[in-house]
Amino acid sequence: MTDTLKAAACSEVDRQAAALVALSRRIHATPELRFEEKQASAWLAEYLLALGFEVEHPAYGLDTAFAATAGSGRPRVALLCEYDALPEIGHACGHNVIAAAGAGAAAGLAVVLEQLGGSVRVLGTPAEEGGGGKVIMARGGAFEDVDVAMMIHPSGVDLLEIDALAITSLHVEYRGRAAHAAAAPQHGINALDALVTAYNSIAQLRQHIAPGERIHGIITDGGQAPNIVPERAAGVFYVRSPSRAGLDALEKRVLECFRAGALATGAKLTVNKTGEDYEDLQTNQPLAALYAANLEKLGRAIGVAGKITGSTDMGNVSHLVPSIHPMLRIAPPDVPLHTQEFCRWAASEEADRGVLDGAKAMAMTAIDYLSDPALQQAVRVAFEATCTGRGAGGEGRGE
Ligand SMILES: [Zn+2]
Ligand SMILES: [Zn+2]
Repeated sequence: MTDTLKAAACSEVDRQAAALVALSRRIHATPELRFEEKQASAWLAEYLLALGFEVEHPAYGLDTAFAATAGSGRPRVALLCEYDALPEIGHACGHNVIAAAGAGAAAGLAVVLEQLGGSVRVLGTPAEEGGGGKVIMARGGAFEDVDVAMMIHPSGVDLLEIDALAITSLHVEYRGRAAHAAAAPQHGINALDALVTAYNSIAQLRQHIAPGERIHGIITDGGQAPNIVPERAAGVFYVRSPSRAGLDALEKRVLECFRAGALATGAKLTVNKTGEDYEDLQTNQPLAALYAANLEKLGRAIGVAGKITGSTDMGNVSHLVPSIHPMLRIAPPDVPLHTQEFCRWAASEEADRGVLDGAKAMAMTAIDYLSDPALQQAVRVAFEATCTGRGAGGEGRGE
């Protein structure tokens, strides 16, 4: 029976192909930054409303988030749509493809839900690029009444998972005292010196951290003029580790480097988080295996080689519900994400094919899941082994 349902869902995706590709291209042509995705979220909500979904928009306290539900009761599959773009380089992460593929999977599932039972909820998740939209939605309860969550992410390769590192983003500021740098340097407290000391301490620390951990930062403010002792200096640093425990430990060591700068110069140190921490990604293996089998039916093979490292707020979701975040090939393997070249690929025929294949693979995976209680149990058991329950974030947004 699942084969018949899968065929019906896939032909519905094909029937919707023109609309889905148009949606992807329109979002691509109208890049909106994190939390400003007014048009993208409205277009998706309209599309799902027309398909008969019950739509809530805005949702979970975010203007550009939405929730669209079809079917009734549990089990409930969540399909996640990202749609934010990057500053300067537009849809260089291809979130337009994620959005349209999620909508397409929803369209395919909508026509078979009555026979399947259960329900599907499309979640429009703003601000993946640094805003942590999914974390905020999680605090609002977005993942409390769903059983699994899935999305695809475009890429240069088909991969079942990425190495998504836990990350925290720290804004550091030193306040010293201005003085004429030639006439009265002895009266100054040099905030830039404090930051440079911290920067160099971090560079030294970097040699003695675990493989796979990352620390990188920039100086955003370093003073006004060479003849004024800098009164204020500031920077932003990202700290990443493969696990949350590793991140907590590494963050402490970075904070000590910041303190070293303050201690050496007498400048006053302030550290704030710039946004939500992202957790590491825990891929649900039974669910990923279903996805791989379905992707193969579409004539795509999961790459054996290759590895992508980054961070995503889907990591947080993966600690709350069983999740997958496979990468879907829409570009040549040597084109990295977050480049102008990838932005061009995100509006190519390859990307359009990715929208439809991603939609079908997710719809078929949802059908497998919804139709088989034993599988639902297996997914749950695998989840219990990896879940920490900490995806909804801790102290929240800093400055
Ligand atoms: Zn990105
Ligand atoms: Zn992305």
